[in-house]
Amino acid sequence: MSEIPDDTSGRPTGAPDAAVAPPPATGLALPFDHLPLPAAMLDTLRQLDYRATTPIQAASLPLALAGHDLIAQAKTGSGKTAAFGLPLLARLDVRKLAVQAMVLCPTRELADQVTQEIRRLARFEANIKVLALCGGTPMRPQRDSLEHGAHVVVGTPGRIMDHLERGSLKLDALNTLVLDEADRMLDMGFHDDIAFVAGRCPSKRQTLLFSATYPEGIARLAARFLRQPQEVKLPEQHAHDKIRQRFYEIEHPARLQAVAKLLRHYRPVSTLAFCNTRQQCRDLVELLRAQGFAALALNGEMEQRERDQVLIQFANRSCSVLVATDVAARGLDIAQLEAVINVDVTPDPEIHIHRIGRTGRGEDDGWALNLCSSADKRRVASIAQRMGFEPEWHALDELEEDASEPLQAPMTTLLILGGRKDKIRPADVLGALTGEAGFSREQVGKITVTDQNTYVAVERTIAREAVRRLSAGKLKGKKVKVRALEG
Ligand code: ADP
Ligand code: MG
Repeated sequence: MSEIPDDTSGRPTGAPDAAVAPPPATGLALPFDHLPLPAAMLDTLRQLDYRATTPIQAASLPLALAGHDLIAQAKTGSGKTAAFGLPLLARLDVRKLAVQAMVLCPTRELADQVTQEIRRLARFEANIKVLALCGGTPMRPQRDSLEHGAHVVVGTPGRIMDHLERGSLKLDALNTLVLDEADRMLDMGFHDDIAFVAGRCPSKRQTLLFSATYPEGIARLAARFLRQPQEVKLPEQHAHDKIRQRFYEIEHPARLQAVAKLLRHYRPVSTLAFCNTRQQCRDLVELLRAQGFAALALNGEMEQRERDQVLIQFANRSCSVLVATDVAARGLDIAQLEAVINVDVTPDPEIHIHRIGRTGRGEDDGWALNLCSSADKRRVASIAQRMGFEPEWHALDELEEDASEPLQAPMTTLLILGGRKDKIRPADVLGALTGEAGFSREQVGKITVTDQNTYVAVERTIAREAVRRLSAGKLKGKKVKVRALEG
């Protein structure tokens, strides 16, 4: 493709605009009102309690707002969405109901998160329409929504491509293209889809590429679709302090049992366990469940609905251990993950960093527990070198297992047949449980309503009684079918 012309558009490409503060090299926080953002947008940011930029925002917003193409690299949770969301919103002409910005994301979950964050940031203007276009849901309603018009679309490459091929999505008015989590999109084999979609965008546009890692493929992608991009790269600074890594040597056949041992010793509420193969995932889940752990597998072959259900159970703390391959775990963003267990150490240090970066977020420390055979020790050495630490080796025999009480998930998920299409809202479910059924607010956890179903987490100890009372009562004036899901 030779869509990208030489620089004739008159857009800034060299040194940043003199009127714009240069990005602090350290990426230190910057008050938002130091940036050329509309006043109403600054109000929204205050309402959202965004007091100052995160480091990646401080480094990339001045450049993106000045019109540069950008390659920005920062780890998950660093605030990349606003780093591209604010510039694309600041540039929108709301009176023109046409797609002016498009964000490509690797998975539906990520696209949904980005859509929600952009909608929040867009509150400063009453009428900005942000539309999610992802696979796994019917085309028809998306086509109808597109016909009604949208300013911003967020979606997965495959589905966006479908809409382009069928003519339901027009990009003539597009001025900003964002590739979010570009490394993941490449891993998932979206290269050609991205190329197709980028080829349909006007060549005069701003392209912003965000990525958690910087593998070689990213440079090639950028060379093809970005024009004289500025690079913003933030070293992973604090990650190591907050993630405590331990390495245990073990020979291969014994490692699945060793996972159970680690769980009984560390007793994390939520653990993500990585295996290198799907078969190993299945074996591990089977072994853990046989020993009374609430473990579920996340597997790349699952239907979207099953996958959603597993993720809901994990996020609401009714599943203690989620077992996944790297492919299946792509795009997972989980708050409050106490531990990551590497059942196999991956040969790729970048993947290792990405895996363990899911714990130790926010205020809390996290454990990264690694099982490796003597043959894997070379892998550990290269990871340690890449991350700049001295690996801490421990013996499995040192672990004290608290066998008196099995490690159980604090919550249980109840599945209610009926969802948005039945006009059920979270408040109705909470009302039913705390009203007629007589439970307290504290005994009820996360409530997730999907089109067809409703998932409500309740304290494990009241689950049976909650099923009984909900089944006996009514929801929105109707009888409902309820059952507890196996954790
Ligand atoms: P990333 O894409 O880098 O993984 P996100 O964009 O999803 O990170 O942001 C992570 C979280 O931080 C979100 O909940 C977001 O609302 C919040 N956030 C982002 N920027 C700021 C900010 N400047 N101040 C406060 N919270 C922020
Ligand atoms: Mg993100």
